Amino acid sequence: MKTIGIIGGMSWESSAQYYQQINRAVRDRLGPAHSARLLMDSLDFGPIAQLQAAGDWEELAHIMVDSAQRLEAGGADCLLLATNTMHKLADEIEDACDLPLLHIGDAAADAVCAEGITKIALLGTAFTMEEDFYRERLEEYHGLDVIIPEADDRADIHRIIYDELIAGEVLDASREIYRAIIARLVAEGAQGIILGCTEIGLLVSESDSAVPIFDTARLHAMAAVDFALSD
Ligand code: GLU
Repeated sequence: MKTIGIIGGMSWESSAQYYQQINRAVRDRLGPAHSARLLMDSLDFGPIAQLQAAGDWEELAHIMVDSAQRLEAGGADCLLLATNTMHKLADEIEDACDLPLLHIGDAAADAVCAEGITKIALLGTAFTMEEDFYRERLEEYHGLDVIIPEADDRADIHRIIYDELIAGEVLDASREIYRAIIARLVAEGAQGIILGCTEIGLLVSESDSAVPIFDTARLHAMAAVDFALSD
């Protein structure tokens, strides 16, 4: 079995889900006593969130590259960056480290395409929804037609992620807000919804949507298991 390296802690609430889901999948595939070979570098999200808000992506790149190199030196065979937003720095990480980076957007897009879906809605932080780095990956590498919520809805989604979900607060009122946004996106023609933030799966599930839900944290974790158990 190969060793999975995870740059985690962004937030630890979602990294905990990765840890559990990866280990459960390895157990299910290899037998009850088995668990994953895994290294996680769990970062302090406090200063990272401040640097994001300040737009200091240069300093954030140093932090991500330093973490990737620590995991490489520690014996990881691949890298998972357990957050969609920080994939803004995927190129910088790949340039500074020899390990394959299993891109979270690819894990999501592969599952969407496998369902024959072409028009997909993307929920995530403002960085993920509004900037090019993530949408372009879905559109140009995978040929998907990506739609995002309108401005007020994007602000609500972002606020609920940073004010509640990263702190493990899962509120019914916020779930209702997400449900209403998802319904509007379905009315616009979305055939599926990408939960493009690793904490949204704590709040929203299939029962909150009339169309299939693609939880990037779960799909990314399963891509890591496929890698770890491949020859
Ligand atoms: N975990 C989140 C994501 O998947 C947000 C936290 C972050 O900004 O890294 O984008």
